[in-house]
Amino acid sequence: MIDNEKREEALKKMTELLLSRATMLKYHCPDCKLPLFEKDGKIICVNCGEFMLGSEDVQEEKSEAEIIKNVEEKAKLEHLHEDKIELLNKILDEKLLELLEKLKSESSVREIIVILDAIKKILELRYKK
Ligand SMILES: [Zn+2]
Repeated sequence: MIDNEKREEALKKMTELLLSRATMLKYHCPDCKLPLFEKDGKIICVNCGEFMLGSEDVQEEKSEAEIIKNVEEKAKLEHLHEDKIELLNKILDEKLLELLEKLKSESSVREIIVILDAIKKILELRYKK
């Protein structure tokens, strides 16, 4: 942990960094837990100084950032999956309507059975959790 005086100094430096177009990173300094900044390809902690890219500490933090990235990507995929299910449900609804129309005008028992079977399958898919 760092004391108040240091924290204030760190805040001042952070502001300066942000004003000099440095980017605040998602991960924190492994030593003092202050947010890390990136500027000109360097990773900077206002309390500890610059990190060399590829140094052990930063690598460790990097893998944490990697994990976050993976989680985000997975969430994106799940969202995509949800979109597909929504699309499938929409198509199923349309087909269901078509089949019901067909059923209404169908007189062949054999055809009716085929249609009912199709409807049953659609309903199973449509309302499956
Ligand atoms: Zn630090």
